[in-house]
Amino acid sequence: MKKSILVSACLLGLNTRYDGQTKECAAVLTFLLQHNLRPIPICPEQLGGLPTPRSACSFSRGDGEAALKGCGELRSTEGQILTQHFISGAQQSLKIALITGCTQALLKERSPSCGVCNVYQGTLKINGKGVTTALLSHHGIQVFSEENLTACRT
Ligand code: SF4
Repeated sequence: MKKSILVSACLLGLNTRYDGQTKECAAVLTFLLQHNLRPIPICPEQLGGLPTPRSACSFSRGDGEAALKGCGELRSTEGQILTQHFISGAQQSLKIALITGCTQALLKERSPSCGVCNVYQGTLKINGKGVTTALLSHHGIQVFSEENLTACRT
């Protein structure tokens, strides 16, 4: 049986991004095929109740780890505080991982939900995790991005 892996839906070619576009990644699709992995698409921001298209969001304080501890904050470009949507989307994504038996996740770098090594605070790129990456990591799920496919333990 193929091993299942959570994958950011936008990397698979689904139009889930804030601007209604996709970030389909040929390297990801090839990687999944080569490693005989069954992708389980997730978009934490949609799962958290945000519409598509939606306003771009970034951290106004902290990163995903901080958001889970209650001291981080996410805002839209219009200044609306949306932290709870991001936390809810992370919780729903974790549920999907548990239901489908995924122990790994391949997520989109720099996204406020899915970022693995970097996210944005306003327009500034910082070291930090997205909210979903942080929550999945707390539950022992290995998370790596499309920019570091070699980090996958297969
Ligand atoms: Fe892609 Fe993740 Fe953003 Fe959804 S939340 S559009 S899956 S990067």
